[in-house]
Amino acid sequence: MTTQNPASLFIQTHEHDNVAIIVNDGGLPAGTLLGPGLALQEAVPQGHKVALTEISEGSAIVRYNVAIGYALRDIPKGGWVQEALVRMPGARCLTSLPMATRPALPLDPLEGFTFLGYRNADGSVGTRNILAISTTVQCVSGVVDHAVRRIKSELLPLFPNVDDVVGLEHTYGCGVAIEAPDAAIPIRTLRNIGLNPNFGGQAMIVSLGCEKMQPERLMVDGKVPSGGEACVVCLQDERHVGFESMIDSIIKMAHIRLAILNQRRRQTCPASDLVVGMQCGGSDAFSGVTANPALGFAADLLVRAGAAVMFSETTEVRDGIDQLTARAVNPEVAGDLIREMAWYDEYLERSHVDRSANTTPGNKKGGLVNIVEKAMGSIVKSGSTAICGVVRPGEKLTKKGLFYAATPASDFICGTLQLAAGMNLHVFTTGRGTPYGLAAVPVLKIATRSDLARRWHDLMDINAGRIATGEASIEAVGWEIFHALLEVASGRKTWAEHWKLHNALALFNPGPVT
Ligand code: CA
Repeated sequence: MTTQNPASLFIQTHEHDNVAIIVNDGGLPAGTLLGPGLALQEAVPQGHKVALTEISEGSAIVRYNVAIGYALRDIPKGGWVQEALVRMPGARCLTSLPMATRPALPLDPLEGFTFLGYRNADGSVGTRNILAISTTVQCVSGVVDHAVRRIKSELLPLFPNVDDVVGLEHTYGCGVAIEAPDAAIPIRTLRNIGLNPNFGGQAMIVSLGCEKMQPERLMVDGKVPSGGEACVVCLQDERHVGFESMIDSIIKMAHIRLAILNQRRRQTCPASDLVVGMQCGGSDAFSGVTANPALGFAADLLVRAGAAVMFSETTEVRDGIDQLTARAVNPEVAGDLIREMAWYDEYLERSHVDRSANTTPGNKKGGLVNIVEKAMGSIVKSGSTAICGVVRPGEKLTKKGLFYAATPASDFICGTLQLAAGMNLHVFTTGRGTPYGLAAVPVLKIATRSDLARRWHDLMDINAGRIATGEASIEAVGWEIFHALLEVASGRKTWAEHWKLHNALALFNPGPVT
């Protein structure tokens, strides 16, 4: 970090970088002196880049010690390096990559950290105690909504140890090519969400009856889980006469399951029982210097404590694939990373787009000129430990350590797939601001800028913007995130939980709709 004048703040991320970003709220005007011989040639908005040296046409624009683009014309020292002046590099070829060439050596174990969680029969640990009502098809959603409202008002008060009742609604289940190879992704996603540790093995299913996704597809190996046939309510069942009888069936089944869930008690669990899903949304140029590095430090702490940690968002790591394959624990894992990137490249090519389709107007307003710069800032949330494996979309994570869970970067789809992977805590960094939240798992939100944290004081849980202004170190905020995660895992509510802000599940369905 470089700070020449207390009034004007800027950050050069790496010593080899030829650009820096402006820290000051509102940006800085033309003429501002950043250092000896370095005056702004024009006004530069907050988070946007200033050239630290003259950058001649065709030369690399370097941030994070990576060429994030090439100058389309000469840019003077002190000039604003804006999107219109930057040519985006092509995507890194997926051959000749470094394969497990520098996996990090294991860090010292971190012992003695615990939280209060709900231990399940399968060994997993919930951070919340929730009755989930899964659905096989969107047709039943209105009925499930109605039943959930009744259960919340009539039953939930009788079971004080249960936190909530959640209907797992989605738009999949019928009108789809259910046997297409890619249909396996949404189907296994729904099946594995039902197994999320926060549901205590008691998720029930509401089915219509005639839909393509029959309830057996949501069961493990097609078998009815413990609880027998009593886990499914089928609305077209002949025993149902009238709407009220359907609701009665759902409520009766919910009653039995709520009584079981109500027996759960929090107990002391090691931090190694955490399964933390990380992602970002509404990123800006600060994401990669404040919130994501601090989260990366926290990810290292979690891995040292024996926890499972996932990072995701394929288009936001694609440009750093060489960093990831080098960090893979072995060549097989590096190969798995490449396989997921190649699949996604092909998926995008079907619609004649590439990873550059990722960036939003808000990202650009926040100073990110392209997906390469965004990816370099996104990837640092993975910390420094070896990448132990890859979780394919919708699959369940069953091991400890740092994993790449292959998901789109879409906040809702990423969150849904990380739920399926078994996360019991979600961490979300944002620069532009988002009220994102999930009903099934607590979401801890981290602001990249103090201005956002100040304005959204009752939506952001942690302010990493203090790193940019020199008020806190990356390490200090990393520890703050780590401790906050243990507290939230033990029951402390996040702001999103306080306001009950719940985004809908969004399945990733790359398969055809009929
Ligand atoms: Ca995202």
